[in-house]
Amino acid sequence: MSHLKVDLDLVKKYNVPGPRYTSYPPAPQFTDRVAWPAVAERIAKAQDRSRGLSLYFHLPFCESLCWYCGCTTVITTRHEVSAPYLKRLEAEIKLMSARLNPDRSVTQLHWGGGSPTFLTPREIRELGAMIRKHFKCAPDLEAGVEIDPRRLTRDHIVALREAGFNRASIGVQDFDPIVQAAVHRVQPRELTEQALRWAREEGFKSVNFDLIYGLPHQSVGSFEKSLNAILELAPDRLAVFSYAHVPWMKPAQKILEEKSALPTAETKLEILKLVIERLTEGNQFVYIGMDHFARPNDELAAAQRNKTLQRNFQGYSTKSGADIYAFGMSAISQADGVYWQNIKDLPAYSAALDAGREPFAKGYILSDEDKRRRHTIMRLMCDLGLDYAALSKDLRIDFARHFAAELDSMADLEADGLLRRCPGGLLVNDMGRLFIRNIAMRFDRYLPNPAERRFSRTV
Ligand code: SF4
Repeated sequence: MSHLKVDLDLVKKYNVPGPRYTSYPPAPQFTDRVAWPAVAERIAKAQDRSRGLSLYFHLPFCESLCWYCGCTTVITTRHEVSAPYLKRLEAEIKLMSARLNPDRSVTQLHWGGGSPTFLTPREIRELGAMIRKHFKCAPDLEAGVEIDPRRLTRDHIVALREAGFNRASIGVQDFDPIVQAAVHRVQPRELTEQALRWAREEGFKSVNFDLIYGLPHQSVGSFEKSLNAILELAPDRLAVFSYAHVPWMKPAQKILEEKSALPTAETKLEILKLVIERLTEGNQFVYIGMDHFARPNDELAAAQRNKTLQRNFQGYSTKSGADIYAFGMSAISQADGVYWQNIKDLPAYSAALDAGREPFAKGYILSDEDKRRRHTIMRLMCDLGLDYAALSKDLRIDFARHFAAELDSMADLEADGLLRRCPGGLLVNDMGRLFIRNIAMRFDRYLPNPAERRFSRTV
């Protein structure tokens, strides 16, 4: 795809609430009716040494709350909270690693949060050593960490490199000081530049910036300035998220409503148009889909061309066939045919581990039909198309017949130019990349009625 022109009328038509499909079925389907022994049985069955391990660590602490935040966090300035948390993580690692085949290698590692850099450099080294003590890491480990440039020191970056990290994702959101003040995240540009410089000097292979559009006081003009400033810094990847306004889940977001400075839906869409057109101009970035942009020579873009791209809770990835084992409060794991989520509340999470129990909250065991639909949705989101012969082979069904009703239902999407259907497959058009969630929703058999959907909007 080269330079993409965005049709705002289509954006308005398809901008409805929908899941992001980091899992299928989406997390609202997970239930406490699934008990831990059933999950443990699935884990025991999926221990082939050829299956890679993708480890996620949820580090929930932040010193102050950004009012747009949708993450599961613990806000505190008391840094002494992280030492007991690391102890619980170690207890959780011990419980889980005893269930895993020790010959399996970790191919992916991700620390998210919260702010992983809330930990001191010493704690970062400790957690890194803990992971290496209990797991075997592959030599080509892809290790990514989320970095908050505020209160970051160079020693944090050095410690992260020592812990094996080679990819950094730096939270920026917007460079405009008015926007920063309105969302309670003041981060002067120099701090972002400093974090980037340190990451590059210490040898991080790839640096991503996270931006958000739809925040108070943003306009097309103001966001263009931020985007230009970001492009001057030449990151390897960019994630430009639409602000997900879900005040029923995140009450602090109500503060943003009260200030009456949230951009209108129209302005938000104009900003999105600017972002996509600007970033894909001159083939600077490829729009991978779902808010993510990568350089044309980046391995994500190459994997998308070769149809080997993967999607999981950590977003897009080039590593296939890995099960996700996630540690920390609220973390979600995924092994063959099963999802499970840890307890979301810190005292209850800690109490479970102190009592020697897995901090299990709820789970989901996939049926064969769920697995077919999951595979279809993941291929659609990564390949931007469906190859019926390949899917028939993978799923051992006649794909076009099995999903005849779903494929028939796409006449409206085709008429609007989002995709093309031909006898052997379906191809998502350039405009359709923007609406990939809407296309995937046609394969989702758990999708609630529009009025009951508690998801963010698709665009
Ligand atoms: S730093 Fe990130 S996780 Fe922490 S409050 Fe801000 S947005 Fe949320």
